[in-house]
Amino acid sequence: MKLTMDKSIIVFSFIASLLLGTPALSANSAECVNKDSLSKTLSQFKISHLDEDGEVLKDFELEDACVGGAFQAVAEGVQFLRKIPAPKNLPSRYATLISQEGPTKFLNNRIKEIHITWPNDYTCEQGALGYVKSDETENRMYICNHVNIHDYTPLYVAHILVHEARHIDGFPHQQCIQGMFNFDIYACDSSYQEQGSYGIGTGLMLYTYKGAKNEALRDEARSNIVLDMTNRFNTLPMELSSGAILQDTQNNISFYDGNETTLGEFTDEISVMTSRLGTPYIFFKNGEVSKYLFTKEWPLLEGSLVDNYRKLKRREMNELIDINFDLGYCFLFPKQMKCLQEGRFHEFSFSALNPVSFWPQLLGKDTSNAILNDDGKVYTIRDEIKEFVYSENEILNSSELQIKNRYPGVTSWTMLGNGRILGVSPEGYMMQSVSKGKWKRAKEFEDYKFKRILPFMWSKKLEAL
Ligand SMILES: [Zn+2]
Repeated sequence: MKLTMDKSIIVFSFIASLLLGTPALSANSAECVNKDSLSKTLSQFKISHLDEDGEVLKDFELEDACVGGAFQAVAEGVQFLRKIPAPKNLPSRYATLISQEGPTKFLNNRIKEIHITWPNDYTCEQGALGYVKSDETENRMYICNHVNIHDYTPLYVAHILVHEARHIDGFPHQQCIQGMFNFDIYACDSSYQEQGSYGIGTGLMLYTYKGAKNEALRDEARSNIVLDMTNRFNTLPMELSSGAILQDTQNNISFYDGNETTLGEFTDEISVMTSRLGTPYIFFKNGEVSKYLFTKEWPLLEGSLVDNYRKLKRREMNELIDINFDLGYCFLFPKQMKCLQEGRFHEFSFSALNPVSFWPQLLGKDTSNAILNDDGKVYTIRDEIKEFVYSENEILNSSELQIKNRYPGVTSWTMLGNGRILGVSPEGYMMQSVSKGKWKRAKEFEDYKFKRILPFMWSKKLEAL
């Protein structure tokens, strides 16, 4: 029988890892699953591989301990749930069904069969990592056989398993009304308290964060808690407040929602503060890069982001006005834009244009190659992520390459949770919107000067996690 994957009868999770950019991806080291552990797993769950018609191609057995791929990822996810240490004295505010039932019991109570799908399963191709049919009566979940599932950490796979298991109880996704998924997709729960699928996933992260001793594992869990809390619940949890992150001209970063909270004061000079999917990043003029993950520590980053930033000369780090690393790496200077492609810089020079920043990338809309010009207009410079194909003349004269800017007159702007719109003027003063296109000075900031304002959510509780 061919399974019909009608969208209306299934509930599934979107590929979060691609969107999150968290440490979700990190290679599994072991070549085989531990046999004792696998034996336990297979006594609790029937794990099968489906063919393209949705028929069972193979039931996995103990001798498949070294087959790798999605099976190994699932087996290690289940093993992770069994091994994660229970937190001692977990505060009641962090209690969830995961801590009440125990992670393995939680899964066992809801799931008997795990079906690993075929690679081009329709639902998986739509961006799911796994799914449960809403009329499921066999306690069965489907795990997408993505080529990279084996690269997810056991924590991340375990989180997919408990997320899908929760769908057995109902709890379909809700359309997101705030956060990074706020663009017509169903990738949220109404609230954290209701403990839907996303809430349960976050619950597992909290359980891990409070129970594990391993620092890297705790960091991974904490990053996911922050991203979930700020993006997955339509009623903001943990007293989060919707506001703005501010960069002043003195290398200070603060949160503002009517009250100002300092998040970081730096002695090193900041070249650019930008945000990717709700996480603020700081690029320093000395070549270091840091991001804010709700700790005062602002850890220095390593890896490709930093390596690519360091391909700039020190002089360029001084002159840099913006960075875009949503799709590839692009750097904006007063008279030039440089984008890395296959390890090589492609450059575009401005003569008539005077860019002030990249135009903010909105998920679901490709605006990643547009710049805000000093005349308040927004121009698309590149054709998607290809090389520069337009001349400056074409860019200036094509209406198709222009994007409407609702708030010309400021170089960056943000709407606070109370509806008030703040923006930074070209001179660096904090302004507030009074009517369409009209701004006045936001009095409480006096003559203090700023470089940038970006949307951000913050709470003391989340920082104190
Ligand atoms: Zn789901």
